Amino acid sequence: MVKAVVGANWGDEGKGKITDMLAQNADVVVRFQGGANAGHTIKNKYGKFALHTLPSGVFNENTVNIIGNGVALNIPILIGEIESIVEKGVPKPVILISERAQIIMPYHIKFDEYEEERLAGKSFGSTKSGIAPFYSDKFAKIGFQVSDLWDTEQNLKDKIESVTVQKNVILEHLYHKPLIDVDETYATLMKYKEMVAPYVCDVASYLHDAIKDGKTILLEGQLGTLKDCDHGIYPMVTSSNTIAAYGGVGCGIPPYEIKQVISVCKAYSSSVGAGEFVSEITDEAVADELRHRGGDGGEYGATTGRPRRMGWFDCVASKYGCRLQGTTDVAFTVLDVLGYLDEIPVCIGYEIDGKVTTEFPVTRLLKIAKPVYETLPGWKCDISGIREYDKLPENCRKYIEFIEKKIGYPITMISNGPARDDIIYRKRNNG
Ligand code: GDP
Repeated sequence: MVKAVVGANWGDEGKGKITDMLAQNADVVVRFQGGANAGHTIKNKYGKFALHTLPSGVFNENTVNIIGNGVALNIPILIGEIESIVEKGVPKPVILISERAQIIMPYHIKFDEYEEERLAGKSFGSTKSGIAPFYSDKFAKIGFQVSDLWDTEQNLKDKIESVTVQKNVILEHLYHKPLIDVDETYATLMKYKEMVAPYVCDVASYLHDAIKDGKTILLEGQLGTLKDCDHGIYPMVTSSNTIAAYGGVGCGIPPYEIKQVISVCKAYSSSVGAGEFVSEITDEAVADELRHRGGDGGEYGATTGRPRRMGWFDCVASKYGCRLQGTTDVAFTVLDVLGYLDEIPVCIGYEIDGKVTTEFPVTRLLKIAKPVYETLPGWKCDISGIREYDKLPENCRKYIEFIEKKIGYPITMISNGPARDDIIYRKRNNG
């Protein structure tokens, strides 16, 4: 059975924790999109880890971890991550890399940096991991698949040469930066080949057999619906599709095999980088306090360390986020963090041109949308350690049930701490 764990918001919802938890019973965990531009933070018996490229199943000895063809593969980062978790005492994980995955080239990272520099104040706030130049090249059909590393020297050099011709024009005339050298690029690719050789295979065919054998397969999304290249807050999005529907494309399995979609939804909102964020907290002191108390050790980017922008729970964005994911279950995370508040505002609608809507609009309208809040009473206590739904304080249950009703998808898991076992399972329609 194939399940997807994806984000319903702007990313950083705690997908890593939920995947790590569900991976304990999974045979296979698959990354199907994105690159090392975002990170999952995972806390388990081996310690605290920020994973950027590795699937979150790497902490389970019996789980096979797959990098699908949809991923933007940064080979040195991947190998570095494998080494760093092994150094910390994690048993060497089983990793398979799709021969059809494409490689982040050193010049993708440079182009990302140079473009942000050129745009200056108008930049996208890119993490400069080369993701946008990578996906541009992939769709312009000038990318390099992992399997290309096994082509003849002549063919590979010819291909580098032909890509370099156009890149160098831009480097010289637009950015005024050093040019790409064909031999140097070829030598880098040969190093990459050595690094990935032990892991490369036909992933789609492996997954086909795994499905036939009745294995449990988890597809692990990066970022969330609102950063999806098509359905998110374009253009302040990532350059890939973050929705579960892309899961099939990004690892080569049929869409109808995805039977469960677990959308991870955070009990308040946070967003990293620029872009529309209607329920953002405008009072800096209030935002600072939530940022400081948020997540596990504050709401700061796992990859960049950047402070995240903070907001109240947004029912409009989350309902949309869950709908686009095709949600069967909502995992509601970091609820424990809200225990300090006397009252908790929840965004229940957007006012646009004097009319209130609960439908998430296109970016043009998001820019003028104003949040409509309803304020719920807080529960003023620490809920960490609770394992049964009925033991949660009444106001906490009311908060969950209020949001469940507004978003229209069942909250079947509640996360009340960063660790694997900080979880409350809840039956549908309970309470
Ligand atoms: P991801 O990319 O969606 O996995 O999210 P991040 O790792 O960027 O952010 C989630 C942060 O919240 C991490 O530091 C997690 O350890 C932490 N976290 C996850 N679930 C919970 C929870 O239920 N309570 C608390 N306090 N922290 C959580």
